[in-house]
Amino acid sequence: MDRKNMMLEDRWHRKILNAYWIVMLMFLAAQAVFLLSGGVLPNTVGMDKDSWLRLAGLNGLTMLILLSTEVWLRYGPKHQKKAIAGCGFLVSYMFYFIIEPTADGAQMALLLPVLISIVYFDRKMLYGFGIFTILAYGLIYFMMEQPWYQKPVPEFIQVESVFIVSLIIGSTILVRVKEFISYLNSVMKSEQQLLVEKTISDKLLKMDALTSLYNHKTFHEYLDALLEHSEKYHLPLQLAIIDIDGFKKVNDTYGHWVGDLVLKQVASTITSIMMPNDFAARYGGEEFAVIFADKTLAEAQAITEELRKGISIVEHSNMKGRAVTVSIGLCDYHPGDDKESLFRKADSALYHAKRTGKNKVVTASDAMFADSLESKVASI
Ligand code: GH3
Ligand code: MG
Ligand code: MG
Repeated sequence: MDRKNMMLEDRWHRKILNAYWIVMLMFLAAQAVFLLSGGVLPNTVGMDKDSWLRLAGLNGLTMLILLSTEVWLRYGPKHQKKAIAGCGFLVSYMFYFIIEPTADGAQMALLLPVLISIVYFDRKMLYGFGIFTILAYGLIYFMMEQPWYQKPVPEFIQVESVFIVSLIIGSTILVRVKEFISYLNSVMKSEQQLLVEKTISDKLLKMDALTSLYNHKTFHEYLDALLEHSEKYHLPLQLAIIDIDGFKKVNDTYGHWVGDLVLKQVASTITSIMMPNDFAARYGGEEFAVIFADKTLAEAQAITEELRKGISIVEHSNMKGRAVTVSIGLCDYHPGDDKESLFRKADSALYHAKRTGKNKVVTASDAMFADSLESKVASI
């Protein structure tokens, strides 16, 4: 039994024992009323010494059983359930002998152990107590009720029928509850399954299947949100576009599937160098995009340089140990930039990197400076 279930059962031990105490108090009150109103036990003339002794003995014994169980429940190391069930069993017979023969239906007290078994949801206990009660009452009837109080046989049959029906109903309740629990379990499992499937499909929707980086769509959603954030709180942001150099040649020389392996490898190098707050996506065929959200331009530049170097030293076994290189265009966010202008700046930096020899990182400001220098030179 797991810990939680044990704790739940502990609460029930207490509740059941409280119920015994309440019944005991009610019994004492009922007996007081009975005696004060001049009630006498059958076959006796008034309350003689024997009658008082019998009542006091039975009540005292019941109290003793309840007190012992109380002590066991508080200080006993284990077997709390057995103690409560045993106490219920003994007390039910004490109650019966206290009430009998002054009240009709005293035999119903003997049903207590059966009811406790249902509360504990214990099939073995239910059958044990149920069958014992049916047999024990037979003995009580023929040894005591019939010879002493001349109870008619139909009453015996009636009471036994109630015991048998209670046992059947009790076991039916246990079967139904078991069925219901397994139904609940299956509902819970299918809900869990749905959640897992949803998580997987959410992931599939967000990720690129080949490289396990974020896909184009997720990248744009993230950048939109981040741009809004940067504009509102004046936070830094840089965008880098990474393009594999001469990738068409890789495909043409080694085959498309080798090209795919190279893409995977480049993606994993990017992932290994990136920091937790950086965001990388496969932007297009052999293009990747990285967003830096908590860095200065110099820091972003250092990381992209590290990326470039990291990618350029990986030897691809399927390409006879050759490496691939990347060109990277990097731009910084300035207030007022939108997504389009940001991409334009990163693209023109990437274009500059490609045009000036590839395998390098170029920032947008470097590219702009070079372009303006070029146009000045051309105008001379
Ligand atoms: P550059 O240095 O100018 O970037 O040259 P490049 O050859 O890398 O660029 P280009 O745009 O001419 O070629 C890109 C190639 O990438 C063409 C295309 O077949 C290939 N490609 C795009 N997506 C995939 C892919 O998913 N798998 C593979 N194996 N190849 C792809
Ligand atoms: Mg390209
Ligand atoms: Mg390329």
